[in-house]
Amino acid sequence: MRQIQNFIGGEFVAAASGKRFDKRSPLDNRVIASIAEAGRAEVDAAVSAARAALHGEWGGLTTEQRVELLYGVANEITRRFEDFVEAEMADTGQPRHVMTSAFIPRGAANFKVFADVVKNVPNESFQMATPDGRGALNYGIRVPKGVIGVICPWNAPFMLMTWKVGPALACGNTVVVKPSEESPHTATLLGEVMNAVGVPKGVYNVVHGFGPDSAGEFLTQNRGVDAITFTGETRTGAAIMKAASEGMRDVSFELGGKNAGIVFADADFDAAVEGIFRSAFLNSGQVCLGTERVYVERPIFERFVQALKVKAEGVKFGRPDDHDANYGPLISQEHRQKVLSYYRKAVEEGATVVTGGGVPQMPGALAEGAWVEPTIWTGLPDDAAVVREEIFGPCCHIRPFDSENEVVALANDTEYGLSTTIWTTNLARAHRVAARVEVGITWVNSWFLRDLRTAFGGSKQSGIGREGGVHSLEFYTETRNICVKL
Ligand code: NAD
Repeated sequence: MRQIQNFIGGEFVAAASGKRFDKRSPLDNRVIASIAEAGRAEVDAAVSAARAALHGEWGGLTTEQRVELLYGVANEITRRFEDFVEAEMADTGQPRHVMTSAFIPRGAANFKVFADVVKNVPNESFQMATPDGRGALNYGIRVPKGVIGVICPWNAPFMLMTWKVGPALACGNTVVVKPSEESPHTATLLGEVMNAVGVPKGVYNVVHGFGPDSAGEFLTQNRGVDAITFTGETRTGAAIMKAASEGMRDVSFELGGKNAGIVFADADFDAAVEGIFRSAFLNSGQVCLGTERVYVERPIFERFVQALKVKAEGVKFGRPDDHDANYGPLISQEHRQKVLSYYRKAVEEGATVVTGGGVPQMPGALAEGAWVEPTIWTGLPDDAAVVREEIFGPCCHIRPFDSENEVVALANDTEYGLSTTIWTTNLARAHRVAARVEVGITWVNSWFLRDLRTAFGGSKQSGIGREGGVHSLEFYTETRNICVKL
């Protein structure tokens, strides 16, 4: 069993209180790690270490020196690739190929891409006329915001955490990360990488624990934190926003979704089935960008439902390293209870269960894991809870539609607005519909295709602000305008 510590000022430390909590494997519910739970004292120490680093060696580095260190971090992640893959598989139970093809390489890329962005972005400048005819020159310089609190979820822990830590450090800030209590491994491992590469002590800190009355809340309440970037549930975002209002601290939020997939009858049928299958079921449906509402144009509705059913029934449950398996469990027993409660509610609300709806029979120790079947429903009314609330599991409801206007209205009939995926071969329609769906990110004939230079974030209750490329700089720096009279 692994012993996981907090990482404060470059040292791995336990909690003064001696408090620890267990991490259980989603595969078989075995305890796989004991984690030191940070109290207020550890959180305060981490924030102080981050503040000291800002005023120390780190704060004195040039952009070029910082960028070199971040390339070093990316290279060290790549060198220790297998350690990160193992750690993330242990926490999430997701298949090895998901880790090696997407989640862990993205962690390294998050440091490289933002190092490049920071190196290449020019500052603005405006010349202005003055009554004496001599004029003035304005120019902006970007300064780091300070100590950034980074609060992360468990669904793609390393990718989502580095998506924030990469740009924060590239911009010259220091960070205190609070990983999810369900996924403590990779954030801790990144501490070893920071030390190995020579990132000054205190630049990167990790405090473990829970949300309310624990490390998460202690961090957001600490006035030494200058800004908070958070990925997680919308209602947690609301609690964090309240805490951040003390001291008028800035927030960047990537929150929940209830994303629509739209399939027109002229779509490349097989590509659309494959795309919606991925978007609904990848990572056992635990992707914020995932599709839980699918709208299919009536002429191909029945055929589409049957084709998706075949694919969903073809998944093979098993351990991440099992070559015959390609499908993992949910993150925890607690999350499974939530997902299964929606599986029951769907039936109560009158759904036709096309496939799934229960728990697969797993052999031996795996019977104790957090497994659920990929599930497809049809026949629910548009106001059903299952159609309106984020479930965050491997499930979707499929509904027919008859016109472009109707499907746009259906897609927008939600309090969320994170992403959508549109499948059609009519390009003019793709552009039209994409512009009308009220979301931060739209994919046409694809899903989860990410260029890290683009804006990423949610509309409505799916988020505040945009990160990615230069958009991250808007949050992780402040622009100071300097006006020089000539
Ligand atoms: P969560 O909101 O329960 O927890 C996220 C983090 O916040 C955890 O580290 C948790 O300990 C901490 N936390 C909880 N309460 C807190 C409080 N009061 N103060 C400070 N910290 C607190 O979310 P989760 O269950 O870990 O993740 C799943 C959710 O994340 C889903 O809603 C999903 O849509 C969302 N998500 C969004 C994106 C995006 O980019 N928009 C990406 C991934 C996940």
